[in-house]
Amino acid sequence: MKLKINSILIVSLYVISVIISFFNWRLFGDKVQYLNTTLLYIRIVNIVLSVLILGFIFIIYKKYKNSSIFMLGLIFLIISFDIIYWNIDYCVFNNEKFFFSNYLNIFTLLLRVVILIISLYPNSKIHKFIYRNGEKSIIFIIFYIFICVILRDIFKKDLIIDNSYFFVTYNLILISIYLFSSVKLWKLAKTNSFIFKYFSISILVLALKAMCAIYGFFHINFYIKLISISMTFIFFLIVIVGFSVKMIKVIDDFDLVVTELMRFFNFVENNNYSNMFICDYDMDIKYVNKKIKEYYNFEDPLKNLKKDLLNNEHLCFKLRTIINELDSTGTWSGIIEDNSTNEILECYIQKLDIDSSTSQILVSYVDIRDKIDLQKNLDDIKIREVKKARFISNISHEFKTPLNVIYCNLQLLENYSNNNEVDFRQIFLKHSNSLKLNCRRMTRLVNNILDKTKLDLGTLKPNYNNYNIVLLTEDIVDSVVEFSVFKDLIIEFDTNSEEHYIMCDPFIIEKILLNIMSNAIKYSDRGSVISVSLMVEEKVVKIAIKDRGCGIDLNNNLDIFDKFTRGDESFTRLNEGSGIGLSIVKSMVELIDGKITVESKVGEGSVFEIFLPNKLMKFKDKLNYKYEGFYNTAVELSDIYEIN
Ligand code: ADP
Repeated sequence: MKLKINSILIVSLYVISVIISFFNWRLFGDKVQYLNTTLLYIRIVNIVLSVLILGFIFIIYKKYKNSSIFMLGLIFLIISFDIIYWNIDYCVFNNEKFFFSNYLNIFTLLLRVVILIISLYPNSKIHKFIYRNGEKSIIFIIFYIFICVILRDIFKKDLIIDNSYFFVTYNLILISIYLFSSVKLWKLAKTNSFIFKYFSISILVLALKAMCAIYGFFHINFYIKLISISMTFIFFLIVIVGFSVKMIKVIDDFDLVVTELMRFFNFVENNNYSNMFICDYDMDIKYVNKKIKEYYNFEDPLKNLKKDLLNNEHLCFKLRTIINELDSTGTWSGIIEDNSTNEILECYIQKLDIDSSTSQILVSYVDIRDKIDLQKNLDDIKIREVKKARFISNISHEFKTPLNVIYCNLQLLENYSNNNEVDFRQIFLKHSNSLKLNCRRMTRLVNNILDKTKLDLGTLKPNYNNYNIVLLTEDIVDSVVEFSVFKDLIIEFDTNSEEHYIMCDPFIIEKILLNIMSNAIKYSDRGSVISVSLMVEEKVVKIAIKDRGCGIDLNNNLDIFDKFTRGDESFTRLNEGSGIGLSIVKSMVELIDGKITVESKVGEGSVFEIFLPNKLMKFKDKLNYKYEGFYNTAVELSDIYEIN
């Protein structure tokens, strides 16, 4: 506020001075007319030039905040007043002789010279004092000039000095001060702005002007007057040229900076990869880039982003840590999750110290969900590839075992066929069972692979009709009993309905049940019980197969319904198997709109439950499936003999 009042005062004083002097100009109206007009013209041009220079100095001073430039500004202010109050060039033009009153600018000139010398010594106390009290100094100068003007008007007629020694000495002192200052200013240009070189040259012109005054004192003529007045112009023009060069350089630099800035701005604004924004510690958003604007559909992105940031629980939880790290290292990077959108944001935060009072931060973030998903998919693919390789090695082993047995049996038979001493028929019958069993095992394997391929390709279609599911299940359970005898297993069947028809494909049901029953027998302990129950419920028919075998460890993330998964992957495993059976079961259950679950405890046994839709096919007969399953059962349970 105080600063503003001082500035207003300074400008007002300057304007008042111009107005007062304007009225004073009329006082010289009694002189020769053309001379007055020329003088007025010169004066106006000089005022304009001096005001221009004051403006330039103000701009340069604001940029460099250099105390010497401020002092030089003061000198130009005094010169400007000197012109306004006609203390420069007037005496030379208007008089043949030099009067003290006309030379009242001696006092202002003295002030100018003193400030010029002070400006050359930036480390001196007086320099620092004037600079510290900048505005007060300006006001002092203006009042000093006012007093000089008043004194001049009072003593206008009385004080006449016409002393050549005084005049020459006075000007010689001036010349030496100007020359000294000029050299000093030139040196200042080395450590400060090159603008000091132009000040130096302009001060040199003042020295020349003083020399001209000495010459004019003895040989006064019009040309000398003209040269003297031109030197004032040159003095101003040199400084103006200096500022113009400086301005051009500043504009060039500015253009360069703007080009560089635009490059950065474009990089941030049009960044297609990262979302970027600038905010302060209170999360007041100052800037968002185009990617964020697009995210919010250009609808108030600053406000919406702030709202989202404040609502992000994970961010609020981490905020203290982030701020602490920003304060100590200036950066923070990490992951922020957004539970509302399920986004996983990889963030990089950088502190921007724009000035000492305001701390802002630049945040850039990318949603890495896709990246994570991709990585997960890649990991899944890798795991699948490993499982696939294991499956192929399993299945090859599964093929190799029956093939070897068949080959050995055939070799034996071949040996006996040439031996007339043995009953070949007897021997053939002994080995034919083994041959048949191993052929079934291979058939089962091939069937399984074919079924799974058809299921995966979607080419296996159910052949629906309405069948008595109770009878069908019972028949299938009965068919496996003879395959469990060698393990002394007891197979129980229980149902809450004697007859119940549902829409199903008996071939698929048979495949599903035989697969689960085969596992139940395979993994049951000798002499234990396998219970099968069929419960007709309102919406589903539930078939549960419970064994008291080794059980499955379901906690180790194994998906036993996965096509390549086997519970025991070790080479020392007890049971044969390819790990494809349950995956076929699951796919088939889903194919007929059913559901399958498993519950198991290691060492206690497992329960597989199949839920079939309890519905009938409209406009179709109710059929009793004629189960002729021995061959199928024999094939499906073919690997059980091996344990025997
Ligand atoms: P496999 O031909 O190896 O039996 P499956 O797909 O039928 O293949 O079974 C996958 C794995 O699930 C088996 O290797 C076994 O470890 C486990 N499993 C399936 N049924 C049972 C069960 N009733 N009791 C214990 N483990 C079982």
